[in-house]
Amino acid sequence: MSTVKKRIALFGSTGSIGKQTLEVVAANPHLFEISVLTAHKNADLLIEQALKFNPNVVVIVDKAGYPKVNEALKNSDVKVYTGEEALISVAQMAEIDIVLTALVGFSGLKPTIAAIEAGKNIALANKETLVVAGEIVTKLAKEKGVNIYPVDSEHSAIFQCLTGEAMNPIEKIYLTASGGPFRGKKREDLASITKAQALKHPNWEMGAKITIDSASMMNKGLEVIEAKWLFGLTNQQIDVIVHPQSIIHSLVQFKDGSMKAQMGLPDMKLPIQYALTYPQRFETDFERFDFLNYPNLTFEKPDLDTFRNLQLAYDAMEKGGNLPCVLNAANEVTVEAFLNDKIKFLDIAEINEKVLAMANFSANPSLTSLYTTDLEARHLASEIISKL
Ligand code: NDP
Ligand code: MG
Repeated sequence: MSTVKKRIALFGSTGSIGKQTLEVVAANPHLFEISVLTAHKNADLLIEQALKFNPNVVVIVDKAGYPKVNEALKNSDVKVYTGEEALISVAQMAEIDIVLTALVGFSGLKPTIAAIEAGKNIALANKETLVVAGEIVTKLAKEKGVNIYPVDSEHSAIFQCLTGEAMNPIEKIYLTASGGPFRGKKREDLASITKAQALKHPNWEMGAKITIDSASMMNKGLEVIEAKWLFGLTNQQIDVIVHPQSIIHSLVQFKDGSMKAQMGLPDMKLPIQYALTYPQRFETDFERFDFLNYPNLTFEKPDLDTFRNLQLAYDAMEKGGNLPCVLNAANEVTVEAFLNDKIKFLDIAEINEKVLAMANFSANPSLTSLYTTDLEARHLASEIISKL
């Protein structure tokens, strides 16, 4: 084993995945070194992290936070940059071995592409990047000889099941879904859902956007599209099964009918660590799974009528082109509006569906045209919301 430490650029270090990544790094100082940390607005936490992990560079994207971070780090060796463009340049720094993308939403796309262009391997948490531009991103990664290691637990599970199976074609995969806090509920039950109820996920503690996406099952829809591009699957090869205990993280079914599943207690630190150390596994002190605590692992069919967003994601994937980008943009706007008490829970999927129907379709979008699509879909969603 090489004793050279892996140098990590951690994009979105102040978020849920970012913080857990730093826990993994702190527990394994012999394996990892932090080169870059980035935050959007959370200057205080970024400063604290910078003082602890001593990176070469930090980026506070929001310019209003720059003076504070700069002042706090002026007596350290840490360089402080600001602005979106800074994310692009630091993604390409020579010293970096791997970029862990834990930004949320469309904001992850540009820096991820910049990192791939520079030949950096990617540990990908930011699923929206593959939803928006999966074809372009995976093609570019192939051209540049870059590996994309999944951080998302379901995709990490599939990736782990596929290790050692390069010669064996996949028949299909099953992505497991917890079903979120509203599993078993019907549309009429969801009409008066509050933000606090939607923010309470039964099994995972995550950032606000993905928590709402989990409650509406948009998260699983985004993950279906993410899986298509990560593993080069056809739409028909991807199935979703609701598994409320979140112990089986996903499964692969091979052509001989054999199924491999990856299991364990829900803890994002495990897929984060595996994405950073693949193909090796290193010891952890994470809590171990005990069968006797889970005598019943159960499975259900997803309810696509109540959780429309999952159906919308399948539809957008089937029609392809720029529609997954449209759906993602609409959903970012509607989730934000829901979090700001501007719309109701069921409006999220309803508005997403309207925007999908209204946006200009393009079958083979370029990267530039996806930026236009993203803006157009955001505009359409905002218009609908403003007229409610
Ligand atoms: P959080 O909202 O907790 O964190 C997001 C991070 O990105 C923060 O560091 C935030 O900075 C930064 N950020 C937000 N907006 C921007 C922007 N416009 N430009 C630059 N930086 C920005 O999200 P999560 O950690 O929950 O999720 C991150 C990604 O990982 C998402 O794509 C999510 O789908 C995926 N994921 C998350 C899982 C989880 O368990 N949380 C599981 C699987 C996937 P600041 O703090 O300063 O606002
Ligand atoms: Mg997931």
